[in-house]
Amino acid sequence: MTMTKQTLLNDLKKEVLQCKKCRICKCNQVFSCGNCDSKIMLIGEAPGKDEVKNKKPFVGAAGKNLTSYLEETDIDRESDLYITNVVKCRPTPIDNPNKNKKPDNGEIRNCLPFLLKEIEIIKPKLIVLCGGTSYGALTNKKSFKISDIRGKIFKINLNSVNCDAITIFHPSYLMQYANENQISQTKDDLKLIKSYLDLK
Ligand code: SF4
Repeated sequence: MTMTKQTLLNDLKKEVLQCKKCRICKCNQVFSCGNCDSKIMLIGEAPGKDEVKNKKPFVGAAGKNLTSYLEETDIDRESDLYITNVVKCRPTPIDNPNKNKKPDNGEIRNCLPFLLKEIEIIKPKLIVLCGGTSYGALTNKKSFKISDIRGKIFKINLNSVNCDAITIFHPSYLMQYANENQISQTKDDLKLIKSYLDLK
């Protein structure tokens, strides 16, 4: 009997929820949301406070920002996308558990096998890398400027999955620092992303 995507994801989720590899783990991992049959997989950095509270990625201020850009492009985040993060636990500094920090290389390395497994299960046609952490984690590139790489479709080869990928500005960057031009570029990127929904 072949296992369905949902069954495989449920098994993976159980593994993630039991994982305690990193110091940042407080046993409140955030797994994924959206449609596991979607052609498009959107990958963010890590959950924050609101995501942990709601047990769902991209639901805080940055997530709401992303949702409004998606709605403007006529992309439904629940039915058109599968959404996850590179790191499943909320990264916080040792001395301040209420603050967010960027995941460090060790946390990314520890958590990456879960993401690779998710990609293998979902088999997306397009991976949307939301910001530098997910681009760096999946391409192994260390030195790049998001403004130089965003909006360009490239091929990505991960275990048994070969698909297209695109990098976009992270919605929290857009919210805090982006200029009009970068917002307009992101809207163009989302139109390109939407075109993958029509692929057979
Ligand atoms: S961040 Fe990932 S690898 Fe680290 S404890 Fe959480 S689930 Fe495990």
